Amino acid sequence: MNVSDDAEKTAEHPSSLDDWLGRSFDCACGHRHEVPIKRIVIERGALGAVAGYAQEAGYRHVTLVADKNTLQAAGNQLRELLEAAQVQVSVSVIRENTQGEVAADEEAIVQVLLDTPLASQALVAVGAGTIHDIVRFVAHRTRRPFLSVPTAPSVDGFASVGAPLIVRGFKMTIPACAPEAIFADLALLAQAPQAMVAAGFGDMLGKHTSLADWSLGRVLLDEHYCELSARLTLEAVELCTGHLGEIAQRTELGMRKLMEGLLLSGLSMLLVGHSRPASGAEHHLSHYWEMVLLRQRRRALLHGAKVGVATVLMAQRYQALRELSAGEAAARLAQREVPGREADAARIRHAYGDLAELVIAENFPGDNGTDARSLKARIVERWGDVQQIARAVPAPEQLSAWLEAVQGPLTPEQLGVEPELLAASLTDALFVRNRFTILRLQRLL
Ligand SMILES: [Zn+2]
Ligand SMILES: [Zn+2]
Repeated sequence: MNVSDDAEKTAEHPSSLDDWLGRSFDCACGHRHEVPIKRIVIERGALGAVAGYAQEAGYRHVTLVADKNTLQAAGNQLRELLEAAQVQVSVSVIRENTQGEVAADEEAIVQVLLDTPLASQALVAVGAGTIHDIVRFVAHRTRRPFLSVPTAPSVDGFASVGAPLIVRGFKMTIPACAPEAIFADLALLAQAPQAMVAAGFGDMLGKHTSLADWSLGRVLLDEHYCELSARLTLEAVELCTGHLGEIAQRTELGMRKLMEGLLLSGLSMLLVGHSRPASGAEHHLSHYWEMVLLRQRRRALLHGAKVGVATVLMAQRYQALRELSAGEAAARLAQREVPGREADAARIRHAYGDLAELVIAENFPGDNGTDARSLKARIVERWGDVQQIARAVPAPEQLSAWLEAVQGPLTPEQLGVEPELLAASLTDALFVRNRFTILRLQRLL
């Protein structure tokens, strides 16, 4: 089957995740893509399918990883189901850290390592994003497959490979592995707290700005771009906004569509092997806020809640671009002095504290940067393309209305991000990743 057949098939059935499982193929984007996930079950009672899968795969011993809440919500029941199918189960219940939170940090990682007997053939993650991040890392480093049992539709990372971990107080995303199979039980997801559902939806809304940022990189810096991955990501978010009422009411249909969207977004990252389709400036803002909260030992906020709020802020910036004529843009570009490497390094040292050297290394990996003059010329030359990209981003009012419908926070204030932190993030979050985004474009204009 060639790629264009696949493309048509997906366009007709945007949610048929099954079509992509276990596939590897040469894509029109010039890269070879691989999807290592073998099975995805999204249905009421999906929990009951785990034991059958484990038997089929020949697992006689697994380690189930949960926290005290997810153990109660699903872990205990799953253990019984597995044991009834003659699969031995060790259980690792992640303890809260000194902040009273379950975090994907070194303590949790060591705990899972200690709780996993050598005889265990696979890990089973029962929980939301954090439990998955811990398990994804341990599974990868101990060369075990892992099975995913999401207990809330709260992030798009279930199906992806990156494990965001907090090591010595710093957040870093470590490449790890995707789950071998995912079992999303709709009955379980429909009981997830409203805030987690709203967070999953917020993470999905962020795709509108992350996709626009990727397009900016493509148009202005000739960055590699995969039409297929971008289209799947857009279909994923439209699947969610298309079922807004159902998601707001947490019906099983709503949970199915939200979970399909989250997994499809994860899958589009798997295809290209990085998070570019699903993570742009809105994620950089979110990471910046998270980093500062961590440093100040304040309570963590839900990832998708931060992303949703940041998406509205970035959409405001895209809206401003739409109103800028080519002549105005050229005049601004000509006037604006672009900070040099030394000035940027000084700003990073000021903003990032102990993390600064890592952030500097991320931003200046060598002498491969496009110089500011040719980039400015490119922007003028392709202003029509830039405007077209900006027009594809929904209006900030529309994004706010969607967030409001699922009762997610709309503003930094509602999130608990104070004006000083907001202002700092708007100037310094662009250094979180060496990726071209609306924040990087705006400082040239
Ligand atoms: Zn995200
Ligand atoms: Zn591709």
